Amino acid sequence: MNITKTLFYSIIASSAISLAGCSKDGGGINIFSIEDDKQLGLQTKSQIEADPGQFPILDPATHAAAYSYINALRDDILASGKVIHKDDFIWEVKIIKNDEVQNAFCTPGGYIYVYTGLIKYLDNKSALAGVMGHEMAHADRRHSTTQMTKTYGVQTLLDVVVGKNQGLLTQIGAELVNLKFSRSDESEADEYSVKYLCPTKYHADGAAYFFQKIIDMGSSNPPEFLSTHPNPDNRVSNIKQKATDGGCVSSIASNEEIDGYNTFKASL
Ligand SMILES: [Zn+2]
Repeated sequence: MNITKTLFYSIIASSAISLAGCSKDGGGINIFSIEDDKQLGLQTKSQIEADPGQFPILDPATHAAAYSYINALRDDILASGKVIHKDDFIWEVKIIKNDEVQNAFCTPGGYIYVYTGLIKYLDNKSALAGVMGHEMAHADRRHSTTQMTKTYGVQTLLDVVVGKNQGLLTQIGAELVNLKFSRSDESEADEYSVKYLCPTKYHADGAAYFFQKIIDMGSSNPPEFLSTHPNPDNRVSNIKQKATDGGCVSSIASNEEIDGYNTFKASL
């Protein structure tokens, strides 16, 4: 099931959308409330977890060590003090068992999904922290609901929600299938990944390891990540520069950074 399409139908189905006012949480007008983001995320989670064929989620009960590892990493990011909606959103992590997919995503409201293919593609813990920080930033900065507001217009969405313009459903639904983050959202998610990681023990430019690896591997088989996360210009150098500008200093030990990460990978 297509995530964006799911999201769209979730909105249509939801009568709980608050029309109380617009916010400028993520650098643009957003007609959705914090509660809407959480509700959309919860509905998307339900759709995902009802479709184990496409989303075979590792059971936290039988993979306790793996979940303990990745949840601790998430907690380190949340403890940075830099996540705006730390206490508003769920920040639940699920691992999807598919070694062929090098991707991760985070729904509005903070439901984080990481594919084993991405975890195994990466070489160290800071790289995973960087990618998770990037995904969490998309939710924290509310990029999806801000973009939906911008793309379809406040009045259009309101008309659809109140049922005045049902004829637009098919058209908008078809367009939403191709919804992906903008380059400016990508740059902002990169920037916030550094911001989140800077106070932690991780290398604040951890996300740059992932993007440098994509470059090093060549363009013949690009990770699926790039299909929904377009590559802004000078991404690697911008991430590294932000870490330098922030005076970020890592303190992670090499055995945790590499050996511990390899043990985690082997457990998946
Ligand atoms: Zn992204």
